Amino acid sequence: MLEQPQVPTPGARLSREEVESLLFHPDAEITASLARAARQIRDRIYGRGVFIRGLIEFTSFCKNNCLYCGLRRSNALAERYRLSPEEILECCEDGYRVGMRTFVLQGGEDAYFTRKRMTDLLQEIKARYPDCAITLSIGERSSEEYQAFFDAGAERYLLRHETATNAHYRFLHPPEMHLSNRMRCLKELRRIGYQVGCGMMVGSPGQMPEMLARDVEFLRAFMPEMVGLGPFIPHRQTPFAQEKAGSVETTLRLLSLVRLMLPSVLLPATTALSTLDGEGRIRGLDAGANVVMLNLSPQSVRKKYSLYDGKADCPDDARTIWREFSATLEQNGYRAVVSRGDPAGKEEIE
Ligand code: SAM
Ligand code: SF4
Repeated sequence: MLEQPQVPTPGARLSREEVESLLFHPDAEITASLARAARQIRDRIYGRGVFIRGLIEFTSFCKNNCLYCGLRRSNALAERYRLSPEEILECCEDGYRVGMRTFVLQGGEDAYFTRKRMTDLLQEIKARYPDCAITLSIGERSSEEYQAFFDAGAERYLLRHETATNAHYRFLHPPEMHLSNRMRCLKELRRIGYQVGCGMMVGSPGQMPEMLARDVEFLRAFMPEMVGLGPFIPHRQTPFAQEKAGSVETTLRLLSLVRLMLPSVLLPATTALSTLDGEGRIRGLDAGANVVMLNLSPQSVRKKYSLYDGKADCPDDARTIWREFSATLEQNGYRAVVSRGDPAGKEEIE
């Protein structure tokens, strides 16, 4: 019998071996112990309020060919769409009316959205909703573009590093994509002044336990303001169609571990988690997450933004989504917060 690993104290620095052991030890009790400790520190820093983000999936065009993603350019069966600025602004209006104070603009790497088109859009959103934060998640761009988007009002940027292991990055991506460029982008975003989010999928093809431990080590060193973590889920029209989905259990342990290592991080309970587990959002919050992204995209395009199979369907309008999700939160001892939801001051708990 393997020795049972100790649940770390908040802010602890763990070795790769310790991380690996916490994530993969067979004793199921560890998931609950990690979650208990993670909830405690989350509650101390953020309370039971959950930050709600309005997610606008504004383009399904992508020039990249990441092997895991249904939007990859070689997927000739993917349904492509772009929202117009008016449609995007309508999404913001819907979200604002119900209480959302952060809009996350996410999409493929779509050259149609030039620097000018993006900055015009960002300025317009900021002019209409000065009390809201805008998060971008549109992949790798030049430093000048990142700067221009920041100057136009974007304050947060989500760019998962996907894996901190070079060989694994190459396995998941086509030859023209490089981990070094991803890292360059993350450092530039940080230098410019964005709140930066990175992260990875759990159980992506080729991922070995020690790689996930290296990812945790990278997160601990980079100290992002946000961490996006969700299970890998195969998409039938990608080269990874036959691969297995990532484990919900490991994702939950990882959420708890990240909360413990980076106590004030903004940590979403992701859609991918709720796709594999109907209770995934609440289980994610119970594991230490404190953010949920709710879909504001027009219903006509939601199915077309297909990263993986079986994406949790959400046919409702913003008002219904907010009302129903708020009720679910309350039944579980949480509450939806009307706030930009910035990160709490980074505490040194060592
Ligand atoms: N194109 C931008 C980028 O790649 O950063 C933003 C959109 S991309 C779809 C957002 C995230 O979706 C990626 O960082 C990736 O981790 C995740 N994703 C893509 N395919 C996935 C899959 N099959 N299962 C789970 N997550 C996936
Ligand atoms: Fe494009 Fe992002 Fe999908 Fe890669 S993960 S193919 S960059 S949308």
